[in-house]
Parts: sequence; C-alpha cells; structure tokens
Amino acid sequence: MSTTHQTPAEAAAVVAHAGAFVAGAEHQNSGDPLPVVNPANGRPFAAVGAASPRDVDVAVEAASRAFGEWSALAVSKRGEILGRAARHVEDHLEELIPLLTREQGKTLRDSRIELTKALDTLMHYVGLSKALRGVHTPGLDPGVDGFVLRRPLGVVAAIVPWNFPTTLLCNKLAPALVAGNTVVAKPAATTPLTTLRFCELLFQGGLPAGVFNVVSGSGAVAGEALVAHPTVRKVAFTGSTPVGERIMQLCAPGVKRVTLELGGSDPMIICDDADLSAAASAASMGRFYNCGQACLAIKRVYVFESVADEVIEQIVAKASRLRLGPGDAEGVQMGPMHTAGGRAELADQVSRTLEAGGSLLVGGGPPDAAELADGFFYRPTVVADAPQDSPMAVEEVFGPALPVWRVADLDEGIARANGSQFGLGSSVWTRNLARAREAAARIEAGYTWINTRTKVYDELPFGGWKASGYGKEHAEEAFDYYTETKAVVVGDG
Ligand code: NAD
Repeated sequence: MSTTHQTPAEAAAVVAHAGAFVAGAEHQNSGDPLPVVNPANGRPFAAVGAASPRDVDVAVEAASRAFGEWSALAVSKRGEILGRAARHVEDHLEELIPLLTREQGKTLRDSRIELTKALDTLMHYVGLSKALRGVHTPGLDPGVDGFVLRRPLGVVAAIVPWNFPTTLLCNKLAPALVAGNTVVAKPAATTPLTTLRFCELLFQGGLPAGVFNVVSGSGAVAGEALVAHPTVRKVAFTGSTPVGERIMQLCAPGVKRVTLELGGSDPMIICDDADLSAAASAASMGRFYNCGQACLAIKRVYVFESVADEVIEQIVAKASRLRLGPGDAEGVQMGPMHTAGGRAELADQVSRTLEAGGSLLVGGGPPDAAELADGFFYRPTVVADAPQDSPMAVEEVFGPALPVWRVADLDEGIARANGSQFGLGSSVWTRNLARAREAAARIEAGYTWINTRTKVYDELPFGGWKASGYGKEHAEEAFDYYTETKAVVVGDG
C-alpha cells in the first residue's frame, strides 16, 4: 500500500497527537505513536501516542477523583451540564464532520448523520434526567415501607470500535454520566481523533474535568489494562465477538459489571406479499451503508422463491449504481473500507464462498478506476446461492458483500435466519399481519424491523442475543447497566 511510499512532504505533514485527554487536559501517552491512516488514499496523516498501562492508570485515577463530586449532584443537574456541553459540541459539528471522514473513510453525509445521532443520544438522556422516577412499595408490613435506590457504579470503561466511533461512544457515555458515573473511553487505535476532540469539546462546554477521559491505544495493551484495572467497576464494550468473550473473562475476577454489544449477521426475510421495491431498497441500503461496516447491516437475505428473481435483480441494479469514491468527494455514495486488512478479509470470504459454489452477480473485488487504487475500496457485491456452510453464510461479513438465498416459505426463512451463532438484528417484509407477528415472535434477535429500514431508536432497548451480546443499550433500560439497585426498608421506629 502507498503508506510505505510517502513523499517527504507527505511524511512531514503527519501531525503528532498526544493520544489522551485526561482530567481536562491533553495527556501525552508514553507508548510509541500509532499511525492514523486516511482509508481513501492509504496515507497516514496523524501519529497518535499509544497509552501504556501507566497512562491508563492516570486516566482511571482522574475519573475516580471526579466521581465523588459528580455523583453527588442532582440527576437533573448532571443532565443540565451534559446538555450544555453537548450543545457546545454541536457548535463545532462542521469541524468534526471532515475529521471523522478522514480517519474513518465514510462519506461526509454519513459523518454528519453519525455525529448528529451521537448528539441526539446525549440529548435523549439529558431529557430523561428530568423524568426518572423510582420504586416505592408502601405497606410491606404495618408501618413499614420499601424503596428501591439506584446508585452509580463508579468508574466505567467504554471501549468502542472504528465503524461508528461517536454514536457507539455516546450510547455508553450518556446513560453512564446521567446516572452519576465517570468514564474512561478507549476508541479504536485507527479512529482516535474525533473521539479525543469530542471529549475536549465536552470539557470546554462545561463538563467537569475528569468526568469523561479518553485514552487512545491498542486493544492488547491499553484496552486490556483498562478492562483489568481494579478501580474500573464496569466495562461497556462494543466490538467483535471474540474480543467480547476475552473481555468477559477479564471481568470475571471481582465480578466486574459488563455489557457487550458484539458481532451480527442480520437476516432479512422478504415474503411474496411484500412491497418488493421497498424491500430491495432496504436490503441495498442496509448492506452498503457505511461501506457494509455496521453491526446491524443486512448480512443475509432470504427471499421467497416466487419473487426472488425480481428482488435479486433490483438489489443487483442498486448495487451496480452506487457511486464509489473518497468520502469527502462530491456525489460519492460509498467510501472505502476502513483498513486494508478488513478489505483483505472480505475478499477472502467472498472468494472462498465462490469457490464453494456461490454465484457472483455483481462486484467481487476493488474498482478498476486508477484514482481509487491507493484507497481501500471494494465494489458493492452480491452473491447468490452460497452453500449453507460457506463463509458468507456462517461468518460475520463486515464489508459491502451481500449473500441472497431463495426460500420456499416463512418457516424455511425463519429456520435459516435462526441458524446462526448471532442474534443482533433482523427484518421481515410482508403485508400479512399474521406472518409479521409470527416472524417477530420466532426470530432469535434483539431487534426485528417489519416493513421498515433498520434504524436504531433511542426510545427502544437495543442489544444482541446469543453470541451478539449481553445487556442492553438505549432507552431507560440502559440505566440498569450503569447503576446498582438497593432495597431500602423504612419502619416507623
Ligand atoms: P474489535 O473487537 O477488534 O475492537 C473493538 C475495540 O476493542 C477497539 O477499541 C479495540 O482496540 C478494542 N480491543 C481489542 N482487543 C481488546 C482486548 N483484548 N481488550 C480490550 N479491548 C480490546 O472490533 P472491530 O473489528 O474493530 O469492530 C468490528 C466489530 O464490532 C464487528 O464484529 C461488529 O459487528 C462489532 N460491532 C458491534 C456493534 C453492536 O452494537 N453490537 C456495533 C458496532 C460494531
């Protein structure tokens, strides 16, 4: 890749960054700097100090010092402070959007959508901070009443991947802070910059020093040091299933609290009575959005035999029309994949699936355009009739490649949908209410969308079944994962 062929001027343009924001100030991490690469051209443009275990200590200590005062504030006061800080971030949205595109690869439009959603989530919990009510059980015995208190946990570690660095952060940050915890976040080593600036802006907007801290670095060093830190009381993790399993093990000593939002292979079932063009659009959008790198992407389509040709033709036509290019270029609909490694893994999954007997309908490799040769681009790809034990059927496919299968009926569709280790999201397209209800009841997943695109709402709890996770984010349910409850019994004395 061209990362090794930089001109001297390009190498000189690589900006050094301290790598951490702790207790209201930049903190210089002591590890060797890690490159941040622009996925659209393969060139590093920043070098970010990697956190060592000692740097993680400094951040956790800062969060621990801030906890006493922050947790003692009224809930509504915490909401008010967070709301003001979030509005300050919003004032800097136009600065954050190109930064996110540059380090992640997504289009400017998608960066705007992501950052706006992240701020919406903060404001959702700001709103809830005024609406929270508790449990009171009067008359447990004569003259004896019961209450349920909620107390924050302490220092929360938030570990986030690179595909949606800011929304996945705010899903944790918002309920954690409103509930009275303090937070140390670790973004992916390849997307630290937006998160570090986001943290700085929240501080400048009035969030007290130490309440939210960020340490960048590798998963193996900074991530493990943070998860295993004895002062950290809870780990909120989003990422792959194997790393989630490792984190669960690291959290076993001391029974550290943990929530895990992990991988998925979301099925979509399209019945013969569906609005076929709406379903095909949802499949295309659901698979190719963010260059296919979303946990909730549509990763398997099961379409009724009688309408399969029509639906597949529409999906292939949409995939062929998507305009690829650098995320900051005018009119581009799909940017590059995030890393060369991710693209190589996708290419390997597609080629093994084709070798096993799948049929390539469109795509199947990088684009030909010379001006895209240095970026990590991969064409939108559709594969039909992949064998049930082939990689695209059983593994998580984290890129723009969609397998489609023909099924006889709803029963077969549901059986195939459930024949996966994952259970994150799912969707069903049918105009038949009985079919919709049956599918919603029987599909093993944390979300089922019926006749609508796969959008996540702050109002509803979100979290995977089976190997897709443990615990919930979003909605009031998220507070259950950032607080301990205590039963209090009060007598007349
Ligand atoms: P990953 O698990 O490799 O990394 C995620 C984060 O964990 C990064 O910050 C990484 O540095 C850190 N990490 C890695 N090893 C660690 C360790 N041993 N200890 C502590 N931290 C460690 O995930 P990825 O490949 O970067 O992200 C893509 C995956 O995330 C996909 O599987 C995707 O489905 C999943 N994901 C899930 C959701 C969800 O809400 N369920 C959302 C987005 C992404």
